[in-house]
Amino acid sequence: MPQPGHAGLTVLAGPTAVGKGTVSTFIRDNYPEVWLSVSATTRAPRPGEVDGVHYFFKSPEEFDQLISEGAFLEWAVVHGQNRYGTLRSTVEEAVSAGKAVLLEIDLQGARQVKAAVPDARFVFLAPPSWEELVRRLIGRGTETAEEQHRRLETAKMELAAEPEFDHTIINDSVQRAADELVSLMGLTAKPR
Ligand code: 5GP
Repeated sequence: MPQPGHAGLTVLAGPTAVGKGTVSTFIRDNYPEVWLSVSATTRAPRPGEVDGVHYFFKSPEEFDQLISEGAFLEWAVVHGQNRYGTLRSTVEEAVSAGKAVLLEIDLQGARQVKAAVPDARFVFLAPPSWEELVRRLIGRGTETAEEQHRRLETAKMELAAEPEFDHTIINDSVQRAADELVSLMGLTAKPR
């Protein structure tokens, strides 16, 4: 991987349910100048998700093959279930072409990118408060008490990773958080 320096590669990570996906969707819809990496995953597409736009949907065998080819800059099992990974070649091409590249990945992946590309920019998306994260985590009311407890324990551990990052953005409003991220990436946020 060529060392892209701070201008080229930005990693956005943060605890479960903090809203990383919503912020990156907002960026995809509003900031075409950001090159948002499309990950490979073994999970099934959700309604409305398009192969090659939201993810590259892969079978477990295809994912194994990509691992053995060394195709991933990072990959991880997320939520103990499916595998997700960033394809090295497309990210390298975009960085080399001078694009402002954004990876929205989980904490395990962020740590792997830090080991491979220490010079990248690492941004932690944080909830406005612990109480708000608890609300977002258990708000749907579809999980058992045991599952909720497990998620809260995970979230606590994930919040403790914040000092590993260069910057923290509070996700109090999706638009504001996205604008702040774009500014950190050296681009001009839209006037509101
Ligand atoms: P979802 O299945 O809801 O789209 O994503 C679940 C989780 O997978 C999110 O926390 C997201 O950040 C993470 N994720 C998505 N793509 C990647 C990737 O390429 N690598 C890693 N490590 N995590 C990813």
